[in-house]
Amino acid sequence: MNESARVAVVGAGAVGLTTAFDLAERGARVTLFERDAPGGGSTGRAAGICYDAYAEDIDVAVAESAMARFRSLSGEGEFAFHETPYVFLAREGDDAAAAALEESVERMRVHDRAVSLVDAGELADRFPIRTDDVLLAGVAENAGWADPAAYVDLFVEKCEAAGVEFRVGDAVTLRTDPPGVAIDDVVTARFDAVVVAAGVHSRRLLADAGHPIALKPYRAQALVADCDYRGPTVYDATDESYLRPHPAGVLAGDGVEPVEPDPDDWDPTADDWFVADALDAVRHRTAGGDAGALDSAGSTDPGPGPELDRAWAGLCGATPDRNPLVGPVAEGVYVAAGWHGHGFMWAPAIGERLAEAVLGDGQEAIPAAFDPRRFDGDEEFAVVEGMTLDGD
Ligand SMILES: Cc1cc2nc3c(=O)[nH]c(=O)nc-3n(C[C@H](O)[C@H](O)[C@H](O)COP(=O)(O)OP(=O)(O)OC[C@H]3O[C@@H](n4cnc5c(N)ncnc54)[C@H](O)[C@@H]3O)c2cc1C
Repeated sequence: MNESARVAVVGAGAVGLTTAFDLAERGARVTLFERDAPGGGSTGRAAGICYDAYAEDIDVAVAESAMARFRSLSGEGEFAFHETPYVFLAREGDDAAAAALEESVERMRVHDRAVSLVDAGELADRFPIRTDDVLLAGVAENAGWADPAAYVDLFVEKCEAAGVEFRVGDAVTLRTDPPGVAIDDVVTARFDAVVVAAGVHSRRLLADAGHPIALKPYRAQALVADCDYRGPTVYDATDESYLRPHPAGVLAGDGVEPVEPDPDDWDPTADDWFVADALDAVRHRTAGGDAGALDSAGSTDPGPGPELDRAWAGLCGATPDRNPLVGPVAEGVYVAAGWHGHGFMWAPAIGERLAEAVLGDGQEAIPAAFDPRRFDGDEEFAVVEGMTLDGD
């Protein structure tokens, strides 16, 4: 496709904004359609955790370039990338999680990731977190976090500077109308290509245009709590919960529900059970460590806090094989969705790869394993507890 092609991007989340900028930088005339406000979808609800600790080579390649770009953007405007190691651990008694952790660390090392396997003692020597319940942990060094809202603000500015036209306020529909694509909102506009980066709404948008995709939404939750925490990002594989440092103290999450919500009618308020569980998890993991709050019997004195600051829910997208859907679904129609909770941390790499693919000089930039056409779009699959999928 000619580099001055007219390209529409639907959705101004982290993925759509990055893609719109990367297309415009390469000379395309880009219009970005967003029905709410930029960042108003899942991106504004993300925890902003980033790492390259993956066992699959394609995931490593995408994550590595995303991390490099986050670092190069850090300091532009209000955007900052906070270098923070990523600790993933299995608790005493959870031999299955420990075995899976050991195996995945070995595979990460095959791909040259800076990841080490440590026991509770080594973990305690390095980080101010509770470790007396830890059987085994992995520590990934190439990791950090960023505020998704600051990323959105930065890319709105960058898009504007690169000449992207914003059309905000209406939900659009699209029609494959060879030789191009028509986008309908208040008026109809024609484009050489369209990139659907509409998050969990991508399924309906594309199905209505005759291009079904294998995507299901699921609900996840997070909260911010006031407390004094200057430790690493921690994923507890036994408890299936995570926390990371936050300017107010800690951001903690998971609360994934094994049911499929309606992407147009779901509850954005956090559930009471999630808030109670997540505060418990924070209390548990932040007690002890350097603060020395373990008593002589080895149990934990929770001490004061953490105090709930705010809590929320958001939607993530699942696919049958847990790989995302990135690439063409029809002539001139591209999708980028289905991130399994990794869409923020991958956005800087996906934008670049999609821009190259759309403008015609880099179809190979997108891993074949992400090709949305590997599914018919009518597959039966279940979103099961946690972030794993059961393909029955
Ligand atoms: C609680 C929680 C924590 C998370 N934590 C992390 C994390 O730590 N790290 C990580 O990488 N990911 C995390 N995620 C996942 C992350 O939020 C998503 O993967 C990512 O934001 C997806 O970005 P996106 O641009 O694809 O979609 P979105 O941000 O959802 O953007 C899609 C946009 O499309 C717009 N849109 C939809 N339909 C239309 C239409 N018809 N017309 C016009 N506009 C439309 C929507 O309004 C929306 O703004 C988390 C998610 C949740 C819920």
